Amino acid sequence: MENIAVALKALRARISDLERRYERPTGSVGLVAVTKTKPAEAVAAAFAEGQRDFGENQLQEARAKLEALSHLDITWHFIGPIQSNKTRGITQAFAWVHSLDRIKIARRLSDQRPEGAPALEVCIEVNLSAEATKSGIRLEQLKEFAAAVAALPRLRLRGLMTIPAPVSDLDSQRLPFRRLRQAMLELNQSGFELDTLSMGMSDDMEAAIAEGATWIRIGTAIFGPRD
Ligand SMILES: *Cc1c(COP(=O)(O)O)cnc(C)c1O
Repeated sequence: MENIAVALKALRARISDLERRYERPTGSVGLVAVTKTKPAEAVAAAFAEGQRDFGENQLQEARAKLEALSHLDITWHFIGPIQSNKTRGITQAFAWVHSLDRIKIARRLSDQRPEGAPALEVCIEVNLSAEATKSGIRLEQLKEFAAAVAALPRLRLRGLMTIPAPVSDLDSQRLPFRRLRQAMLELNQSGFELDTLSMGMSDDMEAAIAEGATWIRIGTAIFGPRD
């Protein structure tokens, strides 16, 4: 768990460097620490170092961790695929959902959001690679989908998320992130007020920060490789 503290400090220094290098305002890149497959102790170790935003991609796995850590003031982000029978559990326990790509799921998350809780913060997942099998809304359908999501009373549409196909060089990594930023700008020009770009993981965070990420979602670079 000492490694987690060391890795988190190094990561923060790197994020600060990248904010400077790409002329991003200090503190404009938020960090979601992704703890899937990692134990509650790993979450607690990062929390002890001041980390407050954590991401999980599976409700079943997340449940035990959320329970064990309910005494900590953590903001939980759901970042994985969502099945309809999981919406209630997700909207009860999470503050953010980054991976919204079906209207039926969006309606359920809104309908099932507990009374008294603030609106669920959501990002629409956008599919920027051609493969039809991957999750996410296609750019052509984005505006219509965003309008439908924005109309739901218990959701607050904050922005866009993407998981690009992996490539290794920085310039190629930047392309899909630039397209996501452009997609957000276009939505805002047509009346939306989005302020969030959830993009960048351990291997492409520099490209994402260069293109305007406001949340990067980082697992491996903090907690080490997953089995
Ligand atoms: C696992 C995961 C991450 C973190 O990936 P790393 O490469 O370990 O940083 C980010 N986003 C999503 C949606 C994930 O499932």
